[in-house]
Amino acid sequence: MPLNDRLLALPKVDLHVHLEGTITPAMAQKLAARNGLAHAPELLAADGESFRWEADDTAAGALVGFLKAYDAATGVMKTAQDYSDITYDYLKRAAAEGCIYAELTISADHGQQVGLTYPQMLDAITKGFDKAKAESGIEIRMISTAVRHYGPAEALKVGRITHDNPHPLVTAFGLAGDENAYTMADFEPAYAAAALPYRTAHAGEASGPSTVRSAREVLKVRRFGHMVRAIEDADVMAEQKAINAVPEVCVSSNMALGVYKTYAEHPLRKFFDAGLKVTLGSDDPTFFGTSIGREYQIAQEHFGFTDAELLQVSRNAIEEAFVDEATRAKLLRRIDAYTAD
Ligand SMILES: [Zn+2]
Repeated sequence: MPLNDRLLALPKVDLHVHLEGTITPAMAQKLAARNGLAHAPELLAADGESFRWEADDTAAGALVGFLKAYDAATGVMKTAQDYSDITYDYLKRAAAEGCIYAELTISADHGQQVGLTYPQMLDAITKGFDKAKAESGIEIRMISTAVRHYGPAEALKVGRITHDNPHPLVTAFGLAGDENAYTMADFEPAYAAAALPYRTAHAGEASGPSTVRSAREVLKVRRFGHMVRAIEDADVMAEQKAINAVPEVCVSSNMALGVYKTYAEHPLRKFFDAGLKVTLGSDDPTFFGTSIGREYQIAQEHFGFTDAELLQVSRNAIEEAFVDEATRAKLLRRIDAYTAD
């Protein structure tokens, strides 16, 4: 459903989006053809802006279906040009929906699978970004992210590569992948090696509130990928509130992967009302039938967020963005300009 004019104009921020998870069916087809992959997997059959994938009723079934589609779609990426095109394509769509700032979760491991070194991947992403920024003014930073289920040794490698190849747009280190693999402590060396000013970690999505606690205690993060399952433990909620924690909430992702069955069960509104510094993210938008604009729309339609509350969500995100103070101030001015309307 298209956004109404007022919602379209509202400045939005996407703090949680995996770059490869933004590839559209049309782009996947284009890359498959360009890279000489004669038989693009059936999953790539275009269906509007999102992929269709099959899941059974269980959360695990949803995850398997999603990962199969994800692998098929991202498997068509072969070159630096592909990274540039995907970045530009996503940022163009996001900006058209009023997104002023995005933090791209990027993966040196995935770049390597495509056949690019980490610096080559960064260079390609930056080219796509530069083009999008010239057109729309959208701003980005990147979160170099290790994949948990590849293990602590591989994560440490990613941390070191990140450290050894500093880039002005890479300001944070993160942890994604299977939340039940290893422990948070196993990944502290990777964060330490990266030695970046900011940290985030996926926690409290597939696994329960204890992972949120350990991400905070062990990795010292204040921003959390998802964090939604913190709601299951009042003590963890109180601890999170005490540090003014910032959840990166991705409603459509949680629904698609079966973390919640209905909007009524989802804790987005409870988080906001509890005074947590809620932000929104599209996660892997084309796999979850969403976009950052759609996430704001869902917050409004299904969780009763007013325009003022949505603007507060955007303000939260910019206040907690992994960005330098001059850029933060500039972005906050764009939010203030909307308020002044
Ligand atoms: Zn994620």
